[in-house]
Amino acid sequence: MILAHNIYIHIPFCISKCNYCAFFSHACATPDWDLFTDKIITEIEHWHNLLGYVSVPTIFFGGGTPSLMPTYVFRKIMSALFKNFEITADAEITIEANPKTLDNKRLCEFSDAGVNRISIGVQSFNDEKLKFLGRIHNADDARRLIDDAMKHIKNVSADFIYGLPFDTAKTVIQTCDEINKIGLTHCSMYELTIEPDTPFGKMNLCMPSNESMAEMYMAIAKTLKLNRYEVSNYAKNGFECRHNQNIWDGAPYIGIGNGAAGRIFFDNIWYEEMGGGKMFKPLSNSERAIERIITGMRTCRGIKIDNEIKKIINLEFAKTNSDVIEFVGDDQIRATDAGMLILDSLIERLIK
Ligand code: SF4
Repeated sequence: MILAHNIYIHIPFCISKCNYCAFFSHACATPDWDLFTDKIITEIEHWHNLLGYVSVPTIFFGGGTPSLMPTYVFRKIMSALFKNFEITADAEITIEANPKTLDNKRLCEFSDAGVNRISIGVQSFNDEKLKFLGRIHNADDARRLIDDAMKHIKNVSADFIYGLPFDTAKTVIQTCDEINKIGLTHCSMYELTIEPDTPFGKMNLCMPSNESMAEMYMAIAKTLKLNRYEVSNYAKNGFECRHNQNIWDGAPYIGIGNGAAGRIFFDNIWYEEMGGGKMFKPLSNSERAIERIITGMRTCRGIKIDNEIKKIINLEFAKTNSDVIEFVGDDQIRATDAGMLILDSLIERLIK
């Protein structure tokens, strides 16, 4: 049986690199889009040859900066997807956008071509902080794009970064107040992490203490008029990102583009893939169960303890640490609010 597969397409180009960025992306504002499109379409055809006319409930264009893409490129890729897969009638089609790269005209073109969800990289409503982060836009560029997007696109989300030097619960609350005022139905709030091979990694930044980070995290959940449904994601009911939710719940997905990875379910076996199938290796049941614990515990639903998960989970730890893990019924566990604050170490201790 072939399960429905979600699709992630990686657009690896950015106008310039942000100071904190360790993602796979190149500073290249004018790539050879025709060459790139041909490579993406070849990968789409490769997966069609393997999986057939598989059903696709969500498509996510991530980056890099997908909004740099000319709309004719987007249309060509979409038409290849429709030709090779059964894109469901209510498919969620997301594009990530940088406020400097999308005017109202192009936004409408993306919307006409099928985009029904946009995830805007706002990061901050403070110009000084945006400059510090190395973003190419200012706060008003972001406000303008959110405003335009809310007129033309059904689901509008924005990404923010908190925990910069000098951030406090008070500054984070100001950001959340503005999100509430705008009426966003979805946002992602990411804690700044310093990666070694980035400009920030080479600076000696004075970061907020762990206690201060925890205060900011709790202030976000308290202030936003949205529900937390994953460690960093908040939404009004019904506006959760279906693409990410499917993947966190363990559904298969195809990763397209050199910087993308996927999990393919084929002939009753799970495979890990990267680079358009150049790397394609089967996953054992226990590897797959570990992945499901790692992604599932990030969500507020948590994980169902099925037979495979039972073999590798430290149930004793789950039963004796009710401050950080709670049972929902007999066979489902999730992180408590306190558990969400130490999620990485919690997951490590949960796996035998
Ligand atoms: S826009 Fe995103 S992917 Fe590009 S450099 Fe900045 S953080 Fe990295």
